[in-house]
Amino acid sequence: MPVPFLHSPNILFDTVVDRTERLSPGFLRLTLAGASLADFAPYERDQRIKVLLPPGDDGAYPEGLHDGLPEHAWRRAWRALPPADRPVMRSYTAHRVRPAQQEVDLDVFIHEPAGPASRWALGARVGDRLLVSGPDIRRGDPTHGVQWAPGTATTVLIAADETAFPAVHGILRSLDEDVRAHVLLELGDPADTALLGPLLERHTVEVHERAGQAGGDALVAGVEQWLRTHGSSAATLGTGFAAWLVTESTRIPLLRAATTDHGIDPERVHGQGYWNARPRATSE
Ligand SMILES: Cc1cc2nc3c(=O)[nH]c(=O)nc-3n(C[C@H](O)[C@H](O)[C@H](O)COP(=O)(O)OP(=O)(O)OC[C@H]3O[C@@H](n4cnc5c(N)ncnc54)[C@H](O)[C@@H]3O)c2cc1C
Repeated sequence: MPVPFLHSPNILFDTVVDRTERLSPGFLRLTLAGASLADFAPYERDQRIKVLLPPGDDGAYPEGLHDGLPEHAWRRAWRALPPADRPVMRSYTAHRVRPAQQEVDLDVFIHEPAGPASRWALGARVGDRLLVSGPDIRRGDPTHGVQWAPGTATTVLIAADETAFPAVHGILRSLDEDVRAHVLLELGDPADTALLGPLLERHTVEVHERAGQAGGDALVAGVEQWLRTHGSSAATLGTGFAAWLVTESTRIPLLRAATTDHGIDPERVHGQGYWNARPRATSE
């Protein structure tokens, strides 16, 4: 039987919180430090990582989970733990990686109701440990965990809520000069666009406030509106167009269907749920 994650370039990095900064009403930046982060690959864009939260109040981790373990091995060790000792696992984005300083920034959106990850981030103090699974530069495979793959597209649609603002930051920074982005943002507080700052200046930006609606609904409405105006011309661009659509998971099929209805090739659309409207029973 094939071993899951055998070829993943990700390993566990044992980090500590070096500093925290409130970036805006909704965002908290945790700067993580650790000697092994010298090998954390700075692939950026929407690079997905996993955080494993300490299972108890003392901040300690089970012995079997340690620095340098490859993904197939830490997942096996994680699964073998009794549920009460198993760190809660969540996905985040490594959009700012500084191997020379042995640092990675995690920009955490503090959502309501808070879940284990946003609660942990709010309570994090300098020196607290955090195990992070991310790409080891020595293991190659720079596209692993990176979903942004626009190919030769020069017109791109990027639609996201706050959970994806760190990824949007990484993506906008990666764009060539000749790429024109239409950026549609759903948010609860316009002050949270501070995370993206001047990166938005050279693109077309629409902000859709949630204003009491359920998460994802304002973004779906915004994308549908955008498609009514630009959808058919985007469709004629073929590989000259790419869409990256990220929000609450049950809204993703709606977004995909809307692009298809306007004749856009599904191959040119990446849709991804970054969070779930229902609480998760499992620890992943
Ligand atoms: C590839 C990837 C990259 C991601 N990168 C980031 C990142 O860089 N920064 C970041 O902040 N998040 C990011 N996320 C989203 C993050 O993983 C989720 O928001 C996650 O649910 C947070 O875990 P939690 O333990 O705080 O809440 P959970 O235990 O997962 O959920 C608890 C409750 O909170 C609700 N909830 C969760 N997220 C939200 C939300 N955004 N708005 C409203 N309610 C919510 C749930 O519906 C549930 O009721 C990313 C997700 C993916 C898949």
